[in-house]
Amino acid sequence: MIGFIIFIVVVMGIAGVVSYFYLQKKEQASIREIKDYLIKRITDGREINYNHASNLFQTSEKKIYKAAKNVFTDYYRKYISDGIITDKEEKNLGVLIERLGLDSRDVNMIYDIEGKSKLRNVLKEKIKDGELDEGEIAELDMLRKELGFSKGEATDALRKDLKIFMKAKFSEAAADLDITDDEILEIDNIAAKMGIPVSEARQELKKDVIGVVRKRIAFCFEDQEIYKDEAEDLSKIMKLFGVSGKQLEKFGSDIRYLLDLTNIKKGNLPRVSASRMLSAHEVCHLDCQCIHTTLGYATENTYRGTLLVTNKRVLFDSAERGFDFKLQNILDVSTIRKDVFISLKRILGNGFYRVSDQARFVAIILGACLKANWHRGSGFSSERSRHIPQHVKTEVWSRGNGACVYCGANDYLHFDHIIPFSKGGSNTAENIQILCAKCNLEKSDRI
Ligand SMILES: [Zn+2]
Repeated sequence: MIGFIIFIVVVMGIAGVVSYFYLQKKEQASIREIKDYLIKRITDGREINYNHASNLFQTSEKKIYKAAKNVFTDYYRKYISDGIITDKEEKNLGVLIERLGLDSRDVNMIYDIEGKSKLRNVLKEKIKDGELDEGEIAELDMLRKELGFSKGEATDALRKDLKIFMKAKFSEAAADLDITDDEILEIDNIAAKMGIPVSEARQELKKDVIGVVRKRIAFCFEDQEIYKDEAEDLSKIMKLFGVSGKQLEKFGSDIRYLLDLTNIKKGNLPRVSASRMLSAHEVCHLDCQCIHTTLGYATENTYRGTLLVTNKRVLFDSAERGFDFKLQNILDVSTIRKDVFISLKRILGNGFYRVSDQARFVAIILGACLKANWHRGSGFSSERSRHIPQHVKTEVWSRGNGACVYCGANDYLHFDHIIPFSKGGSNTAENIQILCAKCNLEKSDRI
């Protein structure tokens, strides 16, 4: 019984689908038939009698009228396909309107829709090669006049495609991580010539600019330095494109921090007052809380204390242990997750140092060594492990779409060695991923 019901349902379903498609097909065929009839009639020089046609095709006058608009659209499309409406074509359009009995509002709507779509297609064709030069802009303007659009109407019609084009232009300009004045000027020019206010174009590109700045700052964080011209460049484009508020503040403070690190590494060291007595002519560069872990063969001891870096030495002081060593005793400095590892020519002081601002601590050691003419500084592991080649950074960045691979955040990003450099991991794209600061810390807690 159930089998029979299913059989009936299936048969009815198939019948329904078949009849639906049959009717659909018949409908389409009849529109074509009506159009053929209309074309024959007007080319014979006769006007359309809607009452007669509707009786002939056993359909509504509305449907005949729809077919008539269709016929007119086909003609108009054909006439504008070469971009020029000749006098003869112009005259023909008038005749068509009359014989088809079209309402002027409908005609204008067809002119509008078809004309704008023609403009858009021509624009798309012209920007296919990634360029829109003066000659092409002039050609577009000719076409606009031919199609009877005002400049404003044409701009509105092309706005969406122009913005996509400008975005593509911008990302091309930003691909080499350097956006020149000429490149910005070119985009401005295209906008201005096409009637889009420069302010609107800039606003449109703001999001892209933020993406570029974020990427460049992340790259600089990897190197832990920023060149002065690059910093100025970033500030300039943020200003140009109206990056403001919290976003500007954050990028601004990142850039200032990186400039500070860069300066320190070059030997322009900060002077701070020391929490303990130093010898004469000794200048204090860093005085901060520090957790020191000794590098023992059997046991590792951890001490909480104060760390000082001066122009002569590094001092550590805690309740249980205190020592100092000369800068010239430092053999190597490397960063291992949250710790800075310092190896010395002697045993006391060898080990891990954890401070709140690791990058700044390393920079101060480097800068102080440089100033003290201890040239090993630039050869420390902390520096060698950096400087992931530019092409590797670019590859990793685009692979991860410029977001943290763990949580998708796109602020405070760092390049992370999947296998740490200190454990033999390499500077290749396979071994590097993007992590945000938070996930980076969580990862280092697990290791
Ligand atoms: Zn994250």
